[in-house]
Amino acid sequence: MTNVQIEIPATLVDEKPVSITGCRHHFPLLHERVNGKPLIYLDNAATSQKPQIVIDTVIKYYQTENSNIHRGVHYLSEKATQAYEKARGKVQQFLHAAYREEIIFVRGTTEGINLVAQSYGRQNVKEGDEVLISAMEHHSNIVPWQILCEEKGATLCVIPMNDAGELVLDEYEKLLTARTKIVAITHVSNALGTVNPIKQMIASARKRSIPVLVDGAQAVPHMNVDVQDLECDFYVFSSHKVFGPTGVGVLYGRKRLLEAMPPYQGGGDMIKSVTFEKTVYNDLPYKFEAGTPNISGGIGLGAAIDYVNKLDLKAIGEYEHELLAYATEKLVKVPGVRIIGTAKEKAAVLSFVIEGIHPHDVGTILDAEGIAIRTGHHCAQPVMQRFGVPATARASFAFYNTKEEVDALINGVYKVKEILG
Ligand code: PLP
Repeated sequence: MTNVQIEIPATLVDEKPVSITGCRHHFPLLHERVNGKPLIYLDNAATSQKPQIVIDTVIKYYQTENSNIHRGVHYLSEKATQAYEKARGKVQQFLHAAYREEIIFVRGTTEGINLVAQSYGRQNVKEGDEVLISAMEHHSNIVPWQILCEEKGATLCVIPMNDAGELVLDEYEKLLTARTKIVAITHVSNALGTVNPIKQMIASARKRSIPVLVDGAQAVPHMNVDVQDLECDFYVFSSHKVFGPTGVGVLYGRKRLLEAMPPYQGGGDMIKSVTFEKTVYNDLPYKFEAGTPNISGGIGLGAAIDYVNKLDLKAIGEYEHELLAYATEKLVKVPGVRIIGTAKEKAAVLSFVIEGIHPHDVGTILDAEGIAIRTGHHCAQPVMQRFGVPATARASFAFYNTKEEVDALINGVYKVKEILG
């Protein structure tokens, strides 16, 4: 890679709303070259690139604020605490949560789901009960529930999907029974791009008083999420997929449920008092935040939220939708290409296979062209089994991608066929 000098406004958060087409220069890595070609980054579902404002915020934290939070009375500790708690407030607004205490900082989506499975799940799921997930879940929304079910003697039930990669809602309704203790579904599938009708699905579960956890890892970078409007009980996402730093994420939980749940981990910060006889746990959200958290990550996530708010998530969604439609139209015309995931409602993900060519080879040849896509099972092996493929090639888009980049992808796919077809 070569270094390219680009001019980046230092205080983007103070800028007027920025336009989608003008935003590429905010992302330094997008201006690098890979294998002698301009980088075309189409692996956004795995992780997104970071705008300079997020990078600067993390650097500034270490340069001017670094200190441990919630425990010092000194200047720096108070400054760091304020910045971290301010970020929590930004997340609350981002998700439209009713209370700040409902926002728990975790390591990411995976830890958020494990927290709910180990805390809410262990408390409420008993032998003979059922946990309901869907056929298109990421492994992180399967395995934590499997561990719980094995421990408790409960059953993991699965909502099936059709050949387009849409959940079969009639079957879902039938699977909601008196034995169902929690529903855990993805908002948007990382392997297929399907946007699930979660509002409707949550309403069905709520009619039977069954709580619902929504895996929002692939949704928050592409659409507005309002947890009060959705009426979900838990919502989880990872900062790194929404243009923030890695190693931090969010669990939103309904206050009433979080209050009744036991702690997930023990340690500093999650207590009010400790004796060898008894520990009194801290109030929300700290009860679920044992130990020193990812302070710079949380503050960086706050900057990422400021950034997407400037761009406007509705506009982002519309732009990406156009990009996806454009890419799909071109890709289906390539002989031998099969798109995996053809739901009516899709977001920013284009998974495909080419007849007779292994997806890894597709990825390798595209990489030589400077094009980064993902190949493999995308941590969703049951999805691959459902569609009878070992793996797919997956291009996933963000608002900083362009039609010219889509054209390069399509040319690359033709090149793959030329070389290996
Ligand atoms: N759920 C979905 C739908 C995902 O796409 C991912 C990551 O790809 C995860 C969960 C796990 O996210 P993380 O690895 O950030 O915890």
